[in-house]
Amino acid sequence: MKLTVWGAAQQVTGSMHLLELENYKILIDCGLDYERNTWLEENEQFPFLPSEIDVVVLTHAHIDHSGNLPTLVRMGFEGQILCTAPTADLSELLLLDSVNIFLNKQRKSRKGKRNHITGPRPLYLQKHVMETVDRFVCIAFNKPFKLNGEATLTFVPSGHLLGAASAVFTINEQGKQKSIAFSGDIGRKNYPVLNDPESLPQVDYLVCESTYGGRFHNKEKTIEQVLVDTVNEACVKSPGRLIIPAFSIGRTQALVYSLNKLFSKGLLPRIKVFVDSPMAAYATEIFRKHHHLVNEEAQEFYRREGDEFDFENLDYVADMNASKAISNYFEPCIIISSAGMLEGGRIQDHLYYNIQNYYCTILFIGYCAKNTLGHRLLRGDPIVTIRHRELSVYATIKQTDLFSGHADHNDLVNFVKQQDSSTLKQIFLVHGEESSMIKLQEALSEEKFNAEIALKGKTYILN
Ligand SMILES: [Zn+2]
Repeated sequence: MKLTVWGAAQQVTGSMHLLELENYKILIDCGLDYERNTWLEENEQFPFLPSEIDVVVLTHAHIDHSGNLPTLVRMGFEGQILCTAPTADLSELLLLDSVNIFLNKQRKSRKGKRNHITGPRPLYLQKHVMETVDRFVCIAFNKPFKLNGEATLTFVPSGHLLGAASAVFTINEQGKQKSIAFSGDIGRKNYPVLNDPESLPQVDYLVCESTYGGRFHNKEKTIEQVLVDTVNEACVKSPGRLIIPAFSIGRTQALVYSLNKLFSKGLLPRIKVFVDSPMAAYATEIFRKHHHLVNEEAQEFYRREGDEFDFENLDYVADMNASKAISNYFEPCIIISSAGMLEGGRIQDHLYYNIQNYYCTILFIGYCAKNTLGHRLLRGDPIVTIRHRELSVYATIKQTDLFSGHADHNDLVNFVKQQDSSTLKQIFLVHGEESSMIKLQEALSEEKFNAEIALKGKTYILN
């Protein structure tokens, strides 16, 4: 069999790996690559004919893994897309949101030039998303699924996001049994709502993510301690408001559940909480629908206290008027809103009205890419531009990495160490900055593993 890494090679986004058997081509993930300014055009250029792919295997719903599927379908892919049931539901939500982002980009560039469409053409439209969703075939975790006469796929839970999986293939090639696993994104242990990543069976080859290679999560405090300290400081000691920019899918549910636990234990006074993101409300419904997949602690909480994503002092804010009305709420409150990096979304309104408020704290719980407003606030810019106005930053800026959905350096090394180094022939590192990959490669070499930084477009023959 042959492996070609076509995306997430020495970078984080655009996961796309081609596994070629004798008469069968499997594409593992088909994510958007948005590292460069020319990303819209680049994502349209597949290095293979989409119609030649027999099947797609999708590890999880995040857009850097799923976001280019509708383009693949639009350009001729006719096969099935195999994933878990929550991944199918969450992907539909995220892909439809991508269409809106494309159309907004186009609309913005059309301003004042009614008859001249100068904005970038959307990569795909809603109808392409619906055609993509029609191809989803849901497979349960840990149940081997026969792809064809020579290959079997098993999804192993990887934590990280509801429905996320590592994809393990066993392949019979001319009477010889081989196996290869694609880690997908690996989550952390003890993450709110989600189960821990499970260990993989022994394999011959492993394509492994390396996002946090060389980086370590702060383990001095727990999520609950950070939330208690921050909320007390921001909303109890002084009557202020706490704004938490959060991705609508995954982070928001983890945050809501963590706050729910603190309120029900009496560790925080019942301060008003607004979740101001329609997408978060939809995603929460998907978490409820697949409730049997949340971790045992959350299930136990549900049995004891009821819905872990709802409580009396929580409002899911649906329409824009209700969102705008939050600025007239004068009691201390917590506002959870998207987008996480502060680029677009309702969070911009909240920042516009609160960035100059001494009684406002902004708590960052996720990564902010360079050139985003989130990044500028985190590096301490005293003045930022929001809605074309320069505003001085008087709000308090805080950050925690405890809500990160990724395994850190030690977790990744331990994930690989579950394999026998004398049986595992080769590891291909993907999905990380080059510096992270080098550090992870070094650590794995010390553990006697043969780890290689996968090069984009290079075909590896796996005997
Ligand atoms: Zn992910």
